[in-house]
Amino acid sequence: MGRLAKVLLCTVLAVCLSGCAPKEYTGQIFAMDTFMQLTVYGDGEGVTGQQAMQSAQSRVYELEAALSVTRENSDVHKINGSCGQTVTVGEDTAALLGRALELCEQTGGALDITAYPAVQAWGFTTGAHRVPAGDELLELSEKIDYTRVKLEETAVTVPNEMQIDLGAVAKGYTGDVLAAHLREMGIQSACLSLGGNIHTIGTNPKGEAWRVGIQHPTTGGALAVVEVTDKAVVTSGNYQRYFEENGETYWHILDPDTASPARTGLVSVTVIGTEGTRCDALSTALFVMGLDEGSEFWRAHGDFEAVFVTDEEEIYITGGLKDSFSLLEPYQELEVRVIE
Ligand code: ADP
Ligand code: MG
Repeated sequence: MGRLAKVLLCTVLAVCLSGCAPKEYTGQIFAMDTFMQLTVYGDGEGVTGQQAMQSAQSRVYELEAALSVTRENSDVHKINGSCGQTVTVGEDTAALLGRALELCEQTGGALDITAYPAVQAWGFTTGAHRVPAGDELLELSEKIDYTRVKLEETAVTVPNEMQIDLGAVAKGYTGDVLAAHLREMGIQSACLSLGGNIHTIGTNPKGEAWRVGIQHPTTGGALAVVEVTDKAVVTSGNYQRYFEENGETYWHILDPDTASPARTGLVSVTVIGTEGTRCDALSTALFVMGLDEGSEFWRAHGDFEAVFVTDEEEIYITGGLKDSFSLLEPYQELEVRVIE
């Protein structure tokens, strides 16, 4: 082909591609103690994709300001400093707290938002890690009880000796809020990566399912992908925040019954579903329950799918993922067991 013909062909292709493929708008921020990347494809109704993406970023900061457990002036900080008095919180905090309490109940307390004093005692909030003694753990576990948190509209009461933390559900809720916000602005395709939580809107710009990676617990590479549209994919793993002492590893997901790291033989649980808050709650709760109880929970509810990875590198997927889950190189030889 002559040089001119090549140039012409490239120009035609470039015009066609820019005409067919929606434009991509990406922004990265550090919020909620993690890196977040929001990618919006195409423009909305009366707003550009760039404006929509920036508006979503502002919403993240608003949510962080209300939900952070460490920031002074946040609603959660206010609740934790309330000495048993009733405090009034903003609508986001009340909405998430209400949903979180339902999820604590549904999971039989495997998720418990009052585990915060125990999380602090292990030093996971400050990085000053320590292993609390047995009697201290007993005392801490006795104070974990979400049923004592009272919420009436936006009025919250938590007993004096207790504190709450919405960290196990805040990123999932953020995904739900941002997805609704972007859809309202007319955005039909977006991928929100919220530090271990992926929230997708619609299909990818090619009109296909999104391929979301699941991390290998030790190598950090991608172990597998799940194909999803309009769904959240949320992973809780014991390899994100942990410390070692005397040859033993301790991580940040605690069993509310013992106030100690949940040891059920799992290294990660990924939950896939339409509601980010529920997926986030369940990824933490199923990690605490372990494979058998977690599988039972899935059979009883069935409105989500899950991937369990054990410390023996065994992989279990729930039945609904059979056609959308695939292992990646170099892990393709591993056995995938299907939970029915
Ligand atoms: P990450 O925030 O690392 O993505 P999770 O969603 O699993 O992981 O949330 C873990 C956080 O939730 C911990 O850092 C701790 O603050 C808190 N937490 C730990 N165990 C529990 C539990 N059983 N129920 C509720 N919150 C918990
Ligand atoms: Mg979670």
